[in-house]
Amino acid sequence: MSYIGRFAPSPSGLLHFGSLVAALGSYFQAKAMQGKWLVRIEDLDPPREMPGAASAILATLEQYGLYWDGEVAYQSQRHHLYQSQIDEWLKSGQAYYCQCSRKQIKASGGYYLGACRALGLTNAQNCSVRLRMDNPVESFEDLKRGKIEIPHALAHEDFIIKRRDGLFAYNLAVVIDDIDQGITEIVRGADLIEPTGRQISLYKTLNQTPVRYLHLPLAVDSSGNKFSKQNHATAIDNHNPKPAIMKAMIFLGFDLPKDFSDCTIEQMVAWGCKHWCLSQLPDEINIIP
Ligand code: GLU
Repeated sequence: MSYIGRFAPSPSGLLHFGSLVAALGSYFQAKAMQGKWLVRIEDLDPPREMPGAASAILATLEQYGLYWDGEVAYQSQRHHLYQSQIDEWLKSGQAYYCQCSRKQIKASGGYYLGACRALGLTNAQNCSVRLRMDNPVESFEDLKRGKIEIPHALAHEDFIIKRRDGLFAYNLAVVIDDIDQGITEIVRGADLIEPTGRQISLYKTLNQTPVRYLHLPLAVDSSGNKFSKQNHATAIDNHNPKPAIMKAMIFLGFDLPKDFSDCTIEQMVAWGCKHWCLSQLPDEINIIP
């Protein structure tokens, strides 16, 4: 089977160092396998979007020599796919409406215990939609980290696939898209280890073979915070990409040649594809001073 990888940024802000690491890692892994590398804009949550971020992200990828295969996919154009899957599950009883508030769930210990499972609620208004958890996943294999255990309560929770506010949940959209786009391996940041079990359970519920996963080390700043849009991580420089790309490659474990900064961006990326190997990836979270 041929390799299809992807990079799936949310346009809630511009690309920062952490997202560059994920973009490069997924690109190198795909190209080292002579595979395709797709880009999907995860514009699922309009209130959290930054106007212009989607096109700025794509422009940045090009500046960094990361050219995607095929058309860019936008989750905002794929609502019909998510909704029709939810409708099918509501009909079959695999999913159900839930009226519990976050406060109520917190009060009952933090995990949702299925209070609305048997209520047969039919009114979508002010309700979320939850998936009946018939395929709990308590562990999975990560290509670099080996077996990752998922806490029992988390694995068994009927999780939300459509929010009360009408937005589709990330886990549902990401799995439907990864299946639809034929993704064979997911390479992304370690901050997404936690939802992976739920995503694998969705593959199982959809009778699909789960993909392979590789979670890259997370870039954190000197105070231990991950680089994220929520933490207002600084955007990487579009006009002078060499310093950030070299820093990200060192972060990914490459031993760069002495004259590397004389290369063009395209040469740097090509060198990275050629020399990429998983064993060079650091195990621990690296601190970026
Ligand atoms: N859109 C997610 C993010 O920007 C990544 C999703 C994924 O790689 O599965 O954090």
